[in-house]
Amino acid sequence: MNRVRPSSPRLANIEPYDPKYLPAENLLSANENPHDIDRPMRQAIIKAIRRVPFNRYPDPLANELRGLIAETNGLEPNQVLMGNGGDELLLDVALAWGGNGRKMLNLPPTFSVYETNAVLSGTEVVSIPRKPDFSIDEDAVLERVGEGDIDYVMVASPNNPSGGLAEEEFLLKLLDSTDALVMVDEAYFEFSRRTMRPYLASHQNLLILRTFSKAFSLAGVRVGYLLGDPMVIREIIKVRQPYSVDVISQIVARIIYENRSRFEKEMLSIIDERERMYEAMKTLPSVTVFPSEANYLLFKVKRADELWQYLYDQGILVRNLSHSPGLEQCLRVSVGLEAQNDAFLTALRSFILSKDAE
Ligand code: PMP
Repeated sequence: MNRVRPSSPRLANIEPYDPKYLPAENLLSANENPHDIDRPMRQAIIKAIRRVPFNRYPDPLANELRGLIAETNGLEPNQVLMGNGGDELLLDVALAWGGNGRKMLNLPPTFSVYETNAVLSGTEVVSIPRKPDFSIDEDAVLERVGEGDIDYVMVASPNNPSGGLAEEEFLLKLLDSTDALVMVDEAYFEFSRRTMRPYLASHQNLLILRTFSKAFSLAGVRVGYLLGDPMVIREIIKVRQPYSVDVISQIVARIIYENRSRFEKEMLSIIDERERMYEAMKTLPSVTVFPSEANYLLFKVKRADELWQYLYDQGILVRNLSHSPGLEQCLRVSVGLEAQNDAFLTALRSFILSKDAE
């Protein structure tokens, strides 16, 4: 066989992304909404899709959806950009604000895609690790940004996987102290109910990411969006794939967004379940659970690998993060349906109590 020359040296240290999605009765590993969309919404989607011309390209900027999201957020359509999930938009930001000779400030442990995208785009990664409780080392970040050479900063709020918010006061200080682009990733905003959106009017360097994958039950459809200054959005449009949001996804997301008030009850019940799980986990010996504003909980145990396997053997899939830097002995459980959460809590309790008795 004729051989191919090696790929770009940038790929040398990158592992292909693997969500470690395995079949299980209780899928609690990917921070999805455990409820699928309801029948009336599904039927409205099917009806709309029947009329779609498949032979024509979609509207590259998904203007109908863009307009709806802009109006809801009190913004102009040119302040919104739709993407093929938040993931695509994260890569676009790295392509537009990173590159050779440029620097991204990262706050690990956090969503791993930020660093991968920086490496892919030839951007240098500057890391300010979080404190042991996963809060941001605010003074260190402000000091480093003060040096003036950072081109963009990634802040997940709530942070994935630890679940805590970045303080609003800190984010404002950061935005005021730099002309670096500050991306606040609000993928879990509907659960935290906290947003930096009001500061868009006063800060050209603020960019917000949201997604339909979590609260709106559309992880399988792939739609996310950015809110930002028109100039920033225009620059990002230059690097994006023109037709990344296909015609079906545009229809599905529009119908879901028009019906978004129907998700309210589910979101509140997920928040209640999160609090119930947190309280239950807090009482277990040798478990440290971190407070969360999202739809998942990060927790530390003594034998994470063993516990992960034990849970999986009971039909419960959680995310094993214990081999990631800064997350030793940590697992992350997504908030599922009440019965799934009960199954998880029962299995966790029985593992912990049996190991403690040993
Ligand atoms: N940001 C964060 C913090 C996330 O956890 C995720 C999903 N895991 C995303 C962005 C991207 O989500 P999606 O591509 O499904 O919109």
